[in-house]
Amino acid sequence: MSDIPKMMRAVVYRGVNDLRVETVPVPRIGVREVLVRVAVCGVCPTDIKKIHYGTVPPPRIFGHETAGTITRIGARVRGLRVGDRVALHHHVPCCDCHACRHGAFAQCPQYLKTGITAGFEPAGGGYAEFVRVMDFCLPGIVKIPARNSFFEGAMAEPVNTVLKAVNKLHLLKGDTVLVLGQGPIGLIFTRLLTLRGVNVVATDLMPSRLRLAKEFGAHAALRGDVKDLPERIARLTRGRGLDAAVVAVPVDALVTQALALVRGAGRVLLFAHTKRGAALPLDLATVCVDEKDVIGSYSSDITIQDEVARLIFSRRVDVRRLITNIFPLEQTAAGVELAAHPTAESLKVMVTHESS
Ligand SMILES: [Zn+2]
Ligand SMILES: [Zn+2]
Repeated sequence: MSDIPKMMRAVVYRGVNDLRVETVPVPRIGVREVLVRVAVCGVCPTDIKKIHYGTVPPPRIFGHETAGTITRIGARVRGLRVGDRVALHHHVPCCDCHACRHGAFAQCPQYLKTGITAGFEPAGGGYAEFVRVMDFCLPGIVKIPARNSFFEGAMAEPVNTVLKAVNKLHLLKGDTVLVLGQGPIGLIFTRLLTLRGVNVVATDLMPSRLRLAKEFGAHAALRGDVKDLPERIARLTRGRGLDAAVVAVPVDALVTQALALVRGAGRVLLFAHTKRGAALPLDLATVCVDEKDVIGSYSSDITIQDEVARLIFSRRVDVRRLITNIFPLEQTAAGVELAAHPTAESLKVMVTHESS
């Protein structure tokens, strides 16, 4: 505890595609805050987007899928101890405003603030040795059981975002859902939907990912570019059409395809279209007459935190299968590049500071 250094290594975003390993001060904490020594941090597509497109001004320290050990604790903090192994959420809603009362946590003004930082404008800070967790993010702390790894803990936030989206689909057991894209997020969709008794039709272009989709429970795993996809889906659903489709890759044409494949009153959920500016022609009668809904889901839901922890730590969702590439902190930029341009064998990329 007393061995907390004054300075630490951190990967600082200095401009578009410019990540630098620098020495920065270890954050100081207030009486209602905690300091966490970061063990691992996942590389998330939303960070990649900010790094590649420069959508927020530098300097910042990114990384928000963070797990580590509490090393210092403010005098007014209750229920947490130095030495606790924890996973963090960098956005936490107030649970009391108009948006929160509607369950629209990601639209809550407090949620829009980032409450975890390693310095500079708060941006998650997981690509550093220590992070400061602000008071309003303490409810987002999840304790990691002794038998589980920090890597599993770091998946709490991404799994939460997927479970939140699954809940928005309002499916029944026996329904059929197309999940377009079997990257780490698509595979988590496949697994969570399967656990709900939903038949998943998984598509991707990489055979290795399709194999894993089958292992994660997909009823069918098909190359996304097969010509007879509509016929195959008609057969798989006995002509009924899909109850829903999840677009887990940011390809606009897939939204049109998904809309054509869902049944009347079915839902198309956009999960990867986080970059502003994309537009699609839409036959509005598809919405008005066919009652098809285009919905979105973004970020996490604090009310399902415990359920997510149970799913991960019991390994009913075995996230260990998804973590394929681990980089030391100094090589964060290489990890971001790999996550942005995945290979046939790479899925979730993580940055680590210790042998967890
Ligand atoms: Zn993320
Ligand atoms: Zn709120």
